[in-house]
Amino acid sequence: MTVLAIEIGGARFAAATVEPAGVITAKLEMPVGPDPTATLKDLVARIVVPGLISEEGLTGVGIGVAGPLDAVRGTVSPANILAWRDFPLVKTVCGLLPGVPVHLAGDGQVMALGEWWRGAFSAGALLGVVVSTGIGGGLVFEGRPHLGSTGNAGHIGHIRAGEGWETCRCGAVGCVETIASGPSMVRWALANGWQQAVEPTFWAGRPVDSRALSADAKRGVTVAVEAFDRAAGALATAVLTTAALFDVENVVIGGGVAGAGATLLAPLRRAVADQAGLGFLRRVKVEATGLGRDAGLFGAAALALRGE
Ligand SMILES: [Zn+2]
Repeated sequence: MTVLAIEIGGARFAAATVEPAGVITAKLEMPVGPDPTATLKDLVARIVVPGLISEEGLTGVGIGVAGPLDAVRGTVSPANILAWRDFPLVKTVCGLLPGVPVHLAGDGQVMALGEWWRGAFSAGALLGVVVSTGIGGGLVFEGRPHLGSTGNAGHIGHIRAGEGWETCRCGAVGCVETIASGPSMVRWALANGWQQAVEPTFWAGRPVDSRALSADAKRGVTVAVEAFDRAAGALATAVLTTAALFDVENVVIGGGVAGAGATLLAPLRRAVADQAGLGFLRRVKVEATGLGRDAGLFGAAALALRGE
């Protein structure tokens, strides 16, 4: 019994074959080409190899993808993959692997589920937050993912929190994502006098790489530190709002911007401590993912193993 886990990111797709005991038996990553559908087909063809893992040996496929998605129709519209709008992802994968059931969830949802299954969090309620070019999130209650009726529960990036006033790419105003995503932090820092040492990388008119900003924040460059503080404040509000609604004890942070480590985690923990009032909120613990990129793959595998 083996399941196929697929993780769809804006820059790269990853896949792994995973056994029920939680062992990854094969793993593959590919950069996304100009035609993401072709990349997906290539990825599946390279990991599901007759003689090694045949279609017959697979009992399910789990997919984690940046939202928003429509779990009822099996379609996705990831913000960073412009070629996919209401793209029939489930149908496409079903076409590649006929007869194998396909399960779909958001990137934050699979990250949280993976951390629950294979990471350090396995009690009570867990909130996973992916801080990357966008902000995703997901909730796991006593080991079960809470996906919601359309599959979008936990979309923490699109809660209004902090002092944001910008119109978000989702159409709403003041979303956490407009303050705390990597590109939003870079944009704010550049508008507030940050002199980036290297030419910023832009994609579709947005800066895409926050690594130089986190390096400067680490060195104590004031405007870079402020960008992270501002992001941490908005994230803390969103985290505590969610914790108040669902009595969340543990929050796990993943995604590219979380790679900044303490540069993000320290101000975030500070902001959570500053903003928390009630006792059950003051005990909320915020940690970085211990599984790295494998968290999403483990979570996607768990979806398929549990038939969620
Ligand atoms: Zn939004």
